[in-house]
Amino acid sequence: MLDFAKGDGLVPVVIQDEQTLEVLMLGYMNEEAWEKTQREGRVTFYSRSKNRLWTKGEESGHFLHLVSWHSDCDQDTLLIKVVPAGPTCHTGSRSCFKTEYNQNFLLQLERIVHQRYEVPSEESYVNRLRQRGINKIAQKVGEEAVETVIAALAETEHDFINESSDLLFHLLVLLREKGLDLQTIAKNLEGRHQ
Ligand code: AMP
Ligand code: ZN
Ligand code: ZN
Ligand code: ZN
Repeated sequence: MLDFAKGDGLVPVVIQDEQTLEVLMLGYMNEEAWEKTQREGRVTFYSRSKNRLWTKGEESGHFLHLVSWHSDCDQDTLLIKVVPAGPTCHTGSRSCFKTEYNQNFLLQLERIVHQRYEVPSEESYVNRLRQRGINKIAQKVGEEAVETVIAALAETEHDFINESSDLLFHLLVLLREKGLDLQTIAKNLEGRHQ
């Protein structure tokens, strides 16, 4: 049970992008907003400036689709993970906080790869790779792995960084081809860690 009493009926809510882990915004919910959020599967706040329930995206269509939620240690704050339907900030930025976007670029890139699978386009390299089939994608990973090894042993740091980038990128595509993602791999690694 969430403790709404402590904050005069309002609980602060941290909104986090489920895939990139980026913090998107902070808002407040009263009990009614929280119930509506759970019922509808998208985030409704209590807006202190509008003095009413405010479903994020009600005008813009940029809804925050509820994926999971956690209350904190003493149940007076919520962390909600979402899939955002568009930019979360009314300025058009993905996040209301303009910080460390690039720290998560690998996750961002993974999302882009997955989007290319969902919405194929002619110009997309990911899509062209996909059309050539899993054998070709796996082969690319193998080639880039060899190039990474060669660069690590013989070439400049610049080459090594580029080949490592190629390797990670093609591995993202291969994972997607197999219906997997980085989180699966991270969980597996975590499970091995004692
Ligand atoms: P929206 O909920 O996206 O349809 O936006 C409706 C209105 O809510 C906007 O005109 C802004 O005034 C306000 N708004 C939208 N997004 C935010 C945000 N991230 N933080 C604060 N206010 C917002
Ligand atoms: Zn707390
Ligand atoms: Zn904002
Ligand atoms: Zn390469």
